[in-house]
Amino acid sequence: MKKLYLFLFMVSVSFNVIAQTTYLHCGKVIDVEKSKVLTEMTIIIEGDKIKSVEKGYSDVPENAKAIDLKSKTVMPGLFDMHVHLESETSKDGYIKRFTLNDADVAFQSTVYAKKTLMAGFTSVRDLGGSGVNSSLRDAINKGYVDGPTIYSAGKSIATTGGHADPTNGYKDDLMGNPGPAEGVVNSPEEARKAVRQRYKNGADVIKITATAGVLSMAKNGQNPQFFEDELKAIVETANDYGMLTAAHAHGDEGMQRAIRAGIKTIEHGTLMSEETMELMKEYDAYYVPTITAGKSVAELAEIEGYYPEVVVPKAKAIGPKIQDTFGKAYKKGVNIAFGTDAGVFKHGDNGKEFGYMVEAGMKPMESIISATVTPAKLLKVYDKYGSISEGKMADIIAVSDDPTENIKTMESVDFVMKKGVVYKNQ
Ligand SMILES: [Zn+2]
Repeated sequence: MKKLYLFLFMVSVSFNVIAQTTYLHCGKVIDVEKSKVLTEMTIIIEGDKIKSVEKGYSDVPENAKAIDLKSKTVMPGLFDMHVHLESETSKDGYIKRFTLNDADVAFQSTVYAKKTLMAGFTSVRDLGGSGVNSSLRDAINKGYVDGPTIYSAGKSIATTGGHADPTNGYKDDLMGNPGPAEGVVNSPEEARKAVRQRYKNGADVIKITATAGVLSMAKNGQNPQFFEDELKAIVETANDYGMLTAAHAHGDEGMQRAIRAGIKTIEHGTLMSEETMELMKEYDAYYVPTITAGKSVAELAEIEGYYPEVVVPKAKAIGPKIQDTFGKAYKKGVNIAFGTDAGVFKHGDNGKEFGYMVEAGMKPMESIISATVTPAKLLKVYDKYGSISEGKMADIIAVSDDPTENIKTMESVDFVMKKGVVYKNQ
């Protein structure tokens, strides 16, 4: 009997120890650390990590698996620094706040998470939802649901009537009086409380709405909505917890206040002046452009009745400007981190952003670096993610063309591996 137990014990130990080894034979590999395209490479993966990267097509040992990507261009899994996985644009989007329960939101978010992963985005920063986004993160990490690694902001922080005040546009008896727990603050004290509440609720990053926005039920699309003392309180508190800070901003004044307070990433940045671009450089802030969202809302605003009346003129005026602003900011040398605002348009279309960035003057290689190395560094996970190198997590994707020659290829990803598991291989 004892011998049998010992045997079973040894069998279980050996199963745990021997991790699957996979050899990826890659026609081309994008080396994002050296900004080079390498040819005929082998990436060896053991378990969930990259064991080594070798020149040529290495021989595959008997117990290892081989995957033929000789006709593909391989690169690290992509990051989208601005998504909303809880929802997706639809004509009845504004009614859904009153008809969907959290469980409904949770189920639909699993569909959007999977689409995002299949589009080659193995990591995302979810910049605002109800808190379901943080539960979705945990479900993905536990393996219940297929999706990207999520860095969640939980619920965004706004001021009363501001872009992320959850009861904007409601009738009086439904408005209530949301406070810091709901993400509405009106003083430095409340700002601190809101950040700490988010930490308590399990958020990884902090998102604020520094100016008005396009899709909220309010007239103005760009006025500043925080005072500098409130912004400083948010940044200082977030820094205490090591949380990266992001500010939604369309108008210039609100952007400048956010940058001066130390907010690290400016989202949309639509009406950014040259002076603000200089300020971004001075403060080492990053611009997350979301060009795809801008173009998408401008298009959807042309459809009669798609958005509420108050939203339409804002969408038409603000949406189309983002690409132009991005081009100017890029040429001025502002730091760029890739982000799309997916959810405002269809999840899975995130790869379109690359084409828009390149169209505005960015080099294809730089656009890929902005979606790999840069976000991994911003999120302080570059030791584990963001490049294909020994010891890092095996988050690897492949496309059919070389994106440095044809950037459109980023819109149809053929191969997706996350943490050593293959989710897609076409
Ligand atoms: Zn957004």
